[in-house]
Amino acid sequence: MTDTAAQKTVSFGYDTVTPDEKVDRVKGVFRSVASKYDLMNDLMSGGVHRLWKHDTMNRLNPQPGERHLDVAGGTGELARGFLKRADAAGKRRGDARQATAIVCDINDAMLDAGRARSDNEQWGDRLDWVCADGSSLPYPDRSFDAVTVSFGIRNFADRIAGLKEFRRVLKPGGRLAILEFSHMTAPLLQQAYDTYSFNIIPPMGALVAGDRESYQYLIESIRRFPDQDTFKAEIEDAGFAKVSVTNFSGGIAALHFGWAV
Ligand code: SAM
Repeated sequence: MTDTAAQKTVSFGYDTVTPDEKVDRVKGVFRSVASKYDLMNDLMSGGVHRLWKHDTMNRLNPQPGERHLDVAGGTGELARGFLKRADAAGKRRGDARQATAIVCDINDAMLDAGRARSDNEQWGDRLDWVCADGSSLPYPDRSFDAVTVSFGIRNFADRIAGLKEFRRVLKPGGRLAILEFSHMTAPLLQQAYDTYSFNIIPPMGALVAGDRESYQYLIESIRRFPDQDTFKAEIEDAGFAKVSVTNFSGGIAALHFGWAV
């Protein structure tokens, strides 16, 4: 690390830390919650995160034969969704080419939890699991037709490096879909959302996953993440065109979608 990089700091929830410390602490968070991760998502959102992911897939429109990279893919829900959608599109059109997907995550424990879930789905070598940092991807330029990141980019120590990597590994005309917690568009609902977030989620994390701190980090990191327009500008700066923003549930989450040019 250079001197300048060593002096740089980033947020870890409401704490200010070095990038290396953020990487370590984020790894600790997801190692701790991995086995209860899917269950907690359903409990915290009342299952609504599945609708947001469903809409993300609608926008992505997976096609037979495509290569998909799910960065910070965790337990691989988006990657499996991509393969199912691509197969369905192929079946409708009589196109037998098989799409493939890679779940790339910095955390082995999350990948292991995802692999265990996928074992009985028989995706074979169409679904691969790779442990790597999304801001330094182990793939050549122009390798993928679609890159997705859901609820992952907020945790990156260097988000801008990540966006540049997504641009690098996408083929020209490839699609980027980033689903992330965002900022509410209706200020009147903010109070209710804050009350729910700060009073319910950490105790729920303690009860279900035995880990209050990780869920405290979750809600703090959401508030530290840039708003929709700021993040859109970062994606454009990384080289994406026609970047659009779709708010879900009043901005609790937002889908940023762009094209590699
Ligand atoms: N994408 C999955 C989903 O939507 O359910 C998992 C999201 S989970 C909230 C965030 C994931 O990002 C964790 O699995 C974590 O290990 C991963 N992650 C955090 N920083 C990362 C990085 N720099 N590179 C790759 N994965 C990262």
